[in-house]
Amino acid sequence: MPQSARMFSQRENKSRTPTNRVAVVTGSTKGIGFAIARRLAQEGAHVVISSRKQQNVDQAVAMLKEEGLSVTGTVCHVGKAKDREHLVAMALEHSGGVDFLVCVAGVNPLVGSTLGSSEQIWDKILDVNVKAPAMLLSQLLPHMENRRGSSVVLVSSMVAYLPIPALGVYNTSKTALLGLCKSLAVELAPKGIRVNCIVPGIINTDFSQVRKSLTHVQPAIKDIYGLLRTGEPEECAGIVSFLCSSDASFITGENIVVAGFSPKL
Ligand code: NAP
Repeated sequence: MPQSARMFSQRENKSRTPTNRVAVVTGSTKGIGFAIARRLAQEGAHVVISSRKQQNVDQAVAMLKEEGLSVTGTVCHVGKAKDREHLVAMALEHSGGVDFLVCVAGVNPLVGSTLGSSEQIWDKILDVNVKAPAMLLSQLLPHMENRRGSSVVLVSSMVAYLPIPALGVYNTSKTALLGLCKSLAVELAPKGIRVNCIVPGIINTDFSQVRKSLTHVQPAIKDIYGLLRTGEPEECAGIVSFLCSSDASFITGENIVVAGFSPKL
């Protein structure tokens, strides 16, 4: 048996849920990230909530605490090294380690063509969407590798496979995440850490409202994806919970589409 396979079979905790585990979820004060944070907390994990705005963090933490869930929160703009350090420090306060990292935060500051984008736009999108998850994971790694069954989940998008013309650099950043997932899965297998990526279709959140402004590509969106309906954030949370559980102990390096009936994906 290869070393990596041995690590997974021997090290994974056999419990179904992430009970008593610690999860860090970026971009988790609303939308998909919030639904994932809530789901992991409902299953027994202590969840560290974060996003750029203190007010949003306070609101999300209060809401989940009211539901009796174990959460703490801090401001973390994932593109800022100091914020990431602070997030790591807060995550370690609970039990000195981290079991799950779910990188949800992502931006799309431009609606426009790939070649029409400035260097500043390229840097911003790639920094936040692609570089930040890798940087945060490298900061957390020493605190994840000695836990049993640690798991990382990235959040790409269906535009990674079927790009929307007006979302040039964003499309590219989400395709890069598919590769990041594969690369990290190979690198971290010997440490017993699994890395997977979900690839959502159109999910009903504030973020996806941008599509309503893309009037000139609306028919293309329908043609490209053939979607029957849009999804809800909770429909992304279940698969993340599964990927963090020991039921997924033999799954790593996978990019998993969560897009309902979409025959073209
Ligand atoms: P959303 O409802 O707008 O929520 C975005 C969350 O991320 C908020 O909590 C926001 O809070 C936080 N955030 C934004 N920029 C951040 C940054 N630089 N650092 C840390 N936190 C940040 O968006 P969503 O639809 O849930 O999207 C979440 C992820 O799913 C994104 O990566 C997006 O690309 C991906 N996705 C979405 C869809 C969709 O249709 N909705 C489809 C495919 C993929 P603050 O404002 O307080 O920072």
